[in-house]
Amino acid sequence: MTLIHLFDGTTDARYGKALIPAFAEHAKYRHIQCTPSPGGIDMLTYEIVKAAEKESWNAARRQADILQFVPGVLNRVGTEFLGAYTFTLTEKDLYAGDLNWGFGCVLPDGNNGKHLILSTHRFKDLAALTHTAIHEMGHMFGAARPGRRNTEHNLGSHCTNLCVMQQKVTVPEMEKYVALLASRNDKFCLDCQTDLKNYC
Ligand SMILES: [Zn+2]
Ligand SMILES: [Zn+2]
Repeated sequence: MTLIHLFDGTTDARYGKALIPAFAEHAKYRHIQCTPSPGGIDMLTYEIVKAAEKESWNAARRQADILQFVPGVLNRVGTEFLGAYTFTLTEKDLYAGDLNWGFGCVLPDGNNGKHLILSTHRFKDLAALTHTAIHEMGHMFGAARPGRRNTEHNLGSHCTNLCVMQQKVTVPEMEKYVALLASRNDKFCLDCQTDLKNYC
């Protein structure tokens, strides 16, 4: 069983609820439990995200710095999350290093833990948010394994098949691709499904 600790800092429950189909997609390949439940109200984790947003806020850019944000969440709740899987959801726009902005990413903690952060800021369409959550969780669980056939290295290892693990860097490009995958029951290609099944 894989436990994911959710830190939902959004004020609109629709964002948390949009994660439910993303967890369901991954539940095809591993037994996942998410706590607290997505789309519910959990004031403690909400306040943790709000405090980390403030600390990582770059007023000149009007964006939060991912590299300060994620440790800000984890350090507030102690080291019990080292080696764990966490998922932080924020309404703030994100950037990291040289990147102008990003939907989100997964940061490893050096202790086999993985820490996903995802921003709702650039999405008007909840289906695109769900798609990106599936994609980022794919990074968390080994999809598009580096060096595998039909992958490319472009801000991380990505799939070149018709697959949720394809890299999309603009919102229109992403929304178009979400529509293309809409009729598919499985959002991961067979290569990525194998990666997910073999990840441990
Ligand atoms: Zn990616
Ligand atoms: Zn794939």
